[in-house]
Amino acid sequence: MQHPVVPCRSCSAARRLVPALAGAALAVANASAQEVPADFSAHEVPSGVHPRYVVDPARPTWPGAVVNYFYNPSRQPAGLSVATVLQALVNAARKWEDVCNVRFQYRGTSTAEPALDTVFSTVDRVNVVGWRLLSGNQSGYAGYVAWWWQGAGMVDADMVLNTAYGAQLSRNPRELEALATHEMGHMLAIEHSDKQQSVMFANPYNNFAFQTTLRGDDAAACASLYGSAPHAPANRIFNWAEQTFTQFVGPAGQSSQNLDGYHYRYYPGTASYLAEKDGMLLYLPADGPLIPLGGVQDTLPAASAAGF
Ligand SMILES: [Zn+2]
Repeated sequence: MQHPVVPCRSCSAARRLVPALAGAALAVANASAQEVPADFSAHEVPSGVHPRYVVDPARPTWPGAVVNYFYNPSRQPAGLSVATVLQALVNAARKWEDVCNVRFQYRGTSTAEPALDTVFSTVDRVNVVGWRLLSGNQSGYAGYVAWWWQGAGMVDADMVLNTAYGAQLSRNPRELEALATHEMGHMLAIEHSDKQQSVMFANPYNNFAFQTTLRGDDAAACASLYGSAPHAPANRIFNWAEQTFTQFVGPAGQSSQNLDGYHYRYYPGTASYLAEKDGMLLYLPADGPLIPLGGVQDTLPAASAAGF
């Protein structure tokens, strides 16, 4: 059966670079309702309403649960190398792959330009991450994604990284990784969450340190489209641990690997490991020995209650 090609609805979303002080400003606002700073507005959710993730209402998914993408290094900031940018993209992708059954597949560099246009005629069905100076009402954003879907399937998602923020992102590639984590959520057709404790929240955006680690709401959004990853419960516990028990595992934002039946993360700052094997959690400190932490299913409620 043939389906006519029709212009898809264009849905774009964006993130704005937020000063690290935004979190502190929010704390002030919470302390005193009269002192709401000008760069955001705070609203109490009505009782009985549960904030939660938001996905594209059409719930489109990538065929085969694979997001193929290219990188266009044109206009890449001088302070960054292609290898550094690609590592940031791969790391960001792995965070989503750790919690849901989707895979980002890097296909190489490309001269194709990422398109944020809202006309279907320019859609090339090639997913590209690239750099450009964002202008107009997009100028305040460090990154911007436009995605297109047709029927139940995603057909194109492009990410523009704003060269205006190139110097800042060059100084700290981990901020680029955090930015890419949020933007790749959009490439999965996840919109901005209504839950503040999520990477996909945008009112206001959480800072890059926060966006280093996915939260439970983000995992639930992706899992609603692709199902949970096989090791999602362990990874959500790892996410919780690396943001909470920073004296034991750090820095936050590592992604998981597999070896000999172990699903694990290595934390270079503390030279320690978190691992799962056969449903049991293990911790290996720098000076050993291996410490059992309990069962994944027994521990997940604590991580979930903490927002992971
Ligand atoms: Zn966004």
